[in-house]
Amino acid sequence: MSPTDPVPADPSPAERPLLTATGLRKAFGENEVLRGIDFEVRRGEVVVLIGPSGSGKTTVLRSLNGLETPDAGVLDLDGGPVIDFAAQALGPAKAAKQQRLALRDRSAMVFQHHNLFPHLTVLENVIEGPVQVQRVPKARAVAEATALLDRVGLAEKRDAYPFELSGGQQQRVGIVRALALKPDLLLFDEPTSALDPELVGEVLQVIAELAREGWTMVVVTHELAFARQAADEVLFLDGGVVVERGTPQELFTAPREERTRRFLDRIL
Ligand code: ADP
Repeated sequence: MSPTDPVPADPSPAERPLLTATGLRKAFGENEVLRGIDFEVRRGEVVVLIGPSGSGKTTVLRSLNGLETPDAGVLDLDGGPVIDFAAQALGPAKAAKQQRLALRDRSAMVFQHHNLFPHLTVLENVIEGPVQVQRVPKARAVAEATALLDRVGLAEKRDAYPFELSGGQQQRVGIVRALALKPDLLLFDEPTSALDPELVGEVLQVIAELAREGWTMVVVTHELAFARQAADEVLFLDGGVVVERGTPQELFTAPREERTRRFLDRIL
C-alpha cells in the first residue's frame, strides 16, 4: 500500500456486527457436538436456529451466555474482548472466566422452563438480577420492572407468586426478567416448547414485538411460522455444523441443501 492509498476505515459501530462467532467447536467426551460453527448477529437482527434434536442449537446458545465453554473458536462481542477459546495461553478455566466476564450483562437467556424462583413474587423475580448482580438501586429496579411487566400485560400480577400464574404468564415473566438486565443480546432457548399449545401464541407475540422494537436476538425454536415472520436470518444446523443459512424466504421456500429439505418436509 502506498502512502497515498486511503487507509481502510474501521467499520462504524452501526455496521460492525454485535456478535461474530467463528469456528466454535465443542465436544462432550467423544461426542463432537459443535464442529465449526460460524455466524454473525447484527444489531437489531433476529437470528433463528433450527435443526433436528441434538444438532447443537442449545449448545451454541449456551456458549453465547457463558453456560458452556467451547473447546475452540472465537467469540467477538463488539465492545468487549475477543475470546479465542483455543488460545494457548488461556486454557479452559481461563477461557471460561474471560467468557463469563465478557458476556455478563451483555446477554440474557430465556429458558425453555422459565426458571423463576418459586418463593419470590413476580416483581422480586424480575428485580433480583438488576439489584443483586448489577447493583441497580432498588427503587429504580422496581420502577423499571413495573414498566416492563405493564408492557407484557402483567402489571396486575406484580405481587403474585409463580404458581399463581399460567404457563404463558410465567414465561412472559421469564422474558421480562431477561429484559430487566438490559442486555445487548437476548437469547431464547425453545421458549414455547414446554407450553400447552393454546399458550404458545401469547409468548411468541411478545417475542415478535420485542423483535419489532429492535432488540437483537438469537432464538432456538421449532416454531417455523414464527421464524418465517420474525427472523432476519435462519440457520439450519445438523450434526454440529451450519448446513444452510438464509432469509426465511430463501430457506423455507427454496432450500438448497437436501438435508434442509428433508428436515423441513418432516416438520412442515
Ligand atoms: P439441540 O439443541 O440441537 O437439541 P444440544 O445442543 O442440546 O442440541 O445437544 C447436542 C448434543 O450434545 C446432544 O447429543 C446432547 O446429548 C449433547 N449434550 C448437550 N449438553 C451436554 C452436556 N452437558 N453433557 C454431555 N452431553 C451434552
